[in-house]
Amino acid sequence: MPWVAIKTGIVAPDGQETILTEYQCDWPACAHVAEHLVGVVRDVAMMRAVCSEHAAMTHNRKSDSRAE
Ligand SMILES: [Zn+2]
Repeated sequence: MPWVAIKTGIVAPDGQETILTEYQCDWPACAHVAEHLVGVVRDVAMMRAVCSEHAAMTHNRKSDSRAE
């Protein structure tokens, strides 16, 4: 899961630029901050970090594709 580094452009008195780091939702084009870790692709043991909205969608999609 990617760390998102947001450079604020604000330079502190010690000369260091202030950088905010947070998880960002892995959902394409979603700019929300990730709040949930979800194991989406079980076969490759892949974890994803998604926001609460997309965490719910992931759960829905999982149960929808359960047509085996
Ligand atoms: Zn999202």
